[in-house]
Amino acid sequence: MFWRGQELAIHLVAWPSAGAEPCEALLTMGVDMNQMDCDVVVVGAGMSGLSAARALAAAGQTVVVLEARDRVGGRTFSKVLANGAVVDLGGQWVAPTQHRVLQLVEELGLRLFKTFDQGASLALRNGVVQRYDGLLPTDDADVAADLRQGSKKMAELSASIPLDAPWTHPLAAQLDTMTYAEWIDRNLLTDLGRWIFRFEGPAVFSVDASELSVLHAAFYFGSAGGREVITATDGGGQDSRFTAGMQSLANGLAERLKGSVHLGQVVEAISQDADGVVVRCPDLSVRAGRAIVALPPTLAGRIRYAPPMPPLRDSLTQRMPMGTALKMMYVYDTPFWRRDGLSGLVLTDQDVPQLVYDNSPEDASCGILLGFTEGIPARKWMQATPQEREAASVATLAQVFGPRANQVVEYVEHSWVAEEFSRGCYAGTMPPGAWLSFGEALRAPVGRIHWAGTETATHWSGYVEGAMQAGERAAGEVLELMKGAG
Ligand code: FAD
Repeated sequence: MFWRGQELAIHLVAWPSAGAEPCEALLTMGVDMNQMDCDVVVVGAGMSGLSAARALAAAGQTVVVLEARDRVGGRTFSKVLANGAVVDLGGQWVAPTQHRVLQLVEELGLRLFKTFDQGASLALRNGVVQRYDGLLPTDDADVAADLRQGSKKMAELSASIPLDAPWTHPLAAQLDTMTYAEWIDRNLLTDLGRWIFRFEGPAVFSVDASELSVLHAAFYFGSAGGREVITATDGGGQDSRFTAGMQSLANGLAERLKGSVHLGQVVEAISQDADGVVVRCPDLSVRAGRAIVALPPTLAGRIRYAPPMPPLRDSLTQRMPMGTALKMMYVYDTPFWRRDGLSGLVLTDQDVPQLVYDNSPEDASCGILLGFTEGIPARKWMQATPQEREAASVATLAQVFGPRANQVVEYVEHSWVAEEFSRGCYAGTMPPGAWLSFGEALRAPVGRIHWAGTETATHWSGYVEGAMQAGERAAGEVLELMKGAG
């Protein structure tokens, strides 16, 4: 890889795209730009882009990674609090079946610790606080039996989804036109059973259960090994946390990619022809044999392509909205709830927060409660001020834990929907009909452009593990084609 100046810029001005007239804006942007050449250019330095770059570099390819933000890690973002504790404003938990993440943890010498889940949980419904054991407030034998049969049905459905092509499921037409909310209403038999399944919709997908198809819900659960794996703390999706924050994974990868990662580079346009691709940022242009775009599909759709994306691919990127989630943390001198035999896990029927976990540091040197507001209520509350969100959510915590919950020493929050280069989280979701009509465009390369990002994963889609799998898969595609090209 090397830098070139004005000479190549002039050459690029004269370089036409195959099969389409290059637009003037793309051409004029070439003048006076810094130029680079490499084998493969990767767009996005989240865990997916960095994993792709690592696999390519390990295979001897020269790689340039272009990242819009002034940091790596994308939807992972760690922060040091005033008291020195580290918290994650983005992704934070690791499951025992997330093998890529666990292997990287070992390689980078990072440390994990188990999420605190000892003691009773609380549920706040209809103004009443219920204390119970375990994950879900099953208050009688009928509800417990209902949850068991509903869980079994969803487990069977999830296990039947072809993860690399959900639209080929024999019942895809029915499953993709039925919302997850309709499935819940038809398959759960008690009010509380339905409430619990509906509650999990925003908690897992950050959209309401009425906004996604049951095909997508079953695919997503299936990609993680089942709904019960995703929702569990011990042994499941919330099993462990990083002592130094989850962004340390991305920082470690970027460190190893030495100088290949370029921050503050917003990719605006990608052109391709039979010889290669040119990826353009306002002040930098990178020419390569192939490109890997490691962004959520909806953000990939905001890049201008020449020639334009085929209709199926562009339609897909118009139909995978990001979910909406607010992540809020309340710091206390001590994890006072533990003294009352409470795990910190709370399910509420309030808007802020809906779900609460104990997020204290491993040494419990302070107490931290983590609150989530997701889906439809998050769309209302994202428009409030941080002060309004803090006041409303602390009032809910005080209702649940008592007045001691008012003594917050620091409040930290992050609105991912306000982030220009995420526009929501946890991931892009498939509304009804999208898998069936556009699913095949999710991973299919378009000419020399390949797609990564956690949304394209078949293992733990939506999670960091999925981001890594997708990056490695896209890198594998590119390497295979390069091998074929001799
Ligand atoms: P991203 O991280 O989104 O990376 C895309 C990158 O591309 C970003 O760095 C972005 O800045 C950059 N970019 C965007 N547009 C451009 C452009 N035009 N030009 C150049 N660069 C661009 N996962 C877990 O495993 N465990 C969890 O506990 C967990 N909890 C979560 C909680 C929250 C609040 C959030 C936000 C996410 C959570 N996730 C969790 C999901 C996880 O963080 C993501 O699945 C994963 O980080 C996605 O990685 P990615 O590389 O696919 O995408």
